[in-house]
Amino acid sequence: MSEIKRVEPLVLIFSGPSGSGKSTLVQKVLELPGTMPSVSCTTRPRRATEATGKCYDFVTSEQFDAMVARGEFLEFARVFGKHSYGTPKKWLEQSRSKGLDLVLEIDVQGAALVKEKLPESVAIFILPPSRQELERRLRSRGMDADEEISRRLAKAKGEIELAEKFYDFCVVNDEVERAGREAQAIVVALRCSSLRRREVVKQVLGSFGG
Ligand code: 5GP
Repeated sequence: MSEIKRVEPLVLIFSGPSGSGKSTLVQKVLELPGTMPSVSCTTRPRRATEATGKCYDFVTSEQFDAMVARGEFLEFARVFGKHSYGTPKKWLEQSRSKGLDLVLEIDVQGAALVKEKLPESVAIFILPPSRQELERRLRSRGMDADEEISRRLAKAKGEIELAEKFYDFCVVNDEVERAGREAQAIVVALRCSSLRRREVVKQVLGSFGG
């Protein structure tokens, strides 16, 4: 039996306003076998809750700038006008060499850049059910002052307006278990697309002979 020709792994971009619960949904997607995370670099300080987490590679501005100069990022951006965030190309290379679908959790401007460079990538937007619910979640985190919450809500509106223009999928995070299943289902369905299964179809056809 001839070996099945491998298709390139998926590049899955997840974005959503802060408080939309995208990190939780991304974790659910990463529970699917055959996926791997892209670990972003950032110059922002580590939060206390991230002490043991593997969410970011925390770097200095000098280290970040040197990586930019060496062309090591697939995309990078200044988020909230303060800190820099970037997706190192090495994760894309690793995903291809290992044959694992790559999961990016980045903001809308980063997603637009990745879509430009990799048009076959898939962008999935995590939408809060309403402004009121988003505000409630941001307040219940107890992380931000009133002014910061207003800023995040205004930013959320802009992100949703922009996302509508180019995102391929949208998951409403009203209930985390349900939304998690939906996010996983998107990935599973993409893996089953007839384009990606073309070689398998050929192989099955071959098994019929002649
Ligand atoms: P936070 O500092 O709250 O972890 O993230 C702030 C924002 O930066 C979030 O919207 C997050 O998705 C985004 N972000 C994280 N990593 C990257 C990255 O590598 N590139 C871009 N463009 N945005 C990122």
